[in-house]
Amino acid sequence: MDQGSGHDAMDQRMGDELSMEEAPGSDLVDPFGRIIRDLRISVTDRCNFRCTYCMPAEGMQWLDRSAVMSFEEIERLASIFVHRYRVEGIRLTGGEPTVRAHLAVLVRRLAKLGVDLAMTTNGATLRLLASELRDAGLKRVNISLDTLDPVKFEQMTRRDSLHRVLDGIEAAKAAGFDPVKINAVIERGVNDDEIVALAEFGRTNGVEMRFIEFMPLDATGHWMSDKVVGQDEIVAAIAAVYPLEQLPARGAAPADRWRYLDGVGTVGVIPTVTKPFCGDCDRVRLTAEGQFRTCLFATDEFDLLAAMRNGESDDEIAARIERAVGTKWAGHQINQVNFVRPNRSMSQIGG
Ligand code: SF4
Repeated sequence: MDQGSGHDAMDQRMGDELSMEEAPGSDLVDPFGRIIRDLRISVTDRCNFRCTYCMPAEGMQWLDRSAVMSFEEIERLASIFVHRYRVEGIRLTGGEPTVRAHLAVLVRRLAKLGVDLAMTTNGATLRLLASELRDAGLKRVNISLDTLDPVKFEQMTRRDSLHRVLDGIEAAKAAGFDPVKINAVIERGVNDDEIVALAEFGRTNGVEMRFIEFMPLDATGHWMSDKVVGQDEIVAAIAAVYPLEQLPARGAAPADRWRYLDGVGTVGVIPTVTKPFCGDCDRVRLTAEGQFRTCLFATDEFDLLAAMRNGESDDEIAARIERAVGTKWAGHQINQVNFVRPNRSMSQIGG
């Protein structure tokens, strides 16, 4: 799930201290001239939900704990990306990152790198963790909320937890996260009847809704293109009730954004399937077991964890990263005949 990144916040911060030219390190540039600035790190493949567009109710093969990157290993790789390659933003993902024990300890370590540190979460435990994560240095959160109907919520996540997510959203706001963004994956015939209600939720609660097109990354393989509700359809549904004005182009950030003409906030759509934005992509990913992926839909990956555990130096690992980025493709091929689904589901990659 390509979610929003804080380039605007980061440029401001970089402007204050050092321009990118003066910042130590060098740029990590892919074969298409795109500069990598955003690293997504999955800290676990486990989750306390079982969302239908992500994983089956039962039978997921979890990683053995010894196969998952330790906090030291995550911090080491993150510092290579930040100090050697000027990565500006790090987003923590999962599975569900908050099920990783002592997450605030990791956040505190990564915050020391001075990056724009964000997290994508299902929000179910934020009521307990929001202020601790905020104090540890987390800057922004995206919280998943695909329906406001408690019955449908339980059908979609296989958990009776809508109330916990709503409490989590309030806790995130109370902890001072701003903006709090809400991600909603829209699937035709499932929750596309709630687009306007979710938009209203954002307007009423002072949070920015991010509608995400359904992507072929579900573990059960039930994704079909006719289940995708595209950006144009989502925007038309909202604008029919709340007139919108499109905001300037996004740069590398995944979401197209609009402001409500009546001034009550903004709304975003991430059109990965119908309007791919790969041309400006600045993202790379690390899975929970340290596999380096140059694209969400990549079909190959590079084992940085084994490299670390085999005693390789930072120089050797950096060389692996550069070689890998040298293979980054122009973009996903979802709409093309040669599209091959990755052999991992969303929860095994991280949003
Ligand atoms: S290249 Fe891959 S990661 Fe980048 S925007 Fe396209 S799909 Fe997303």
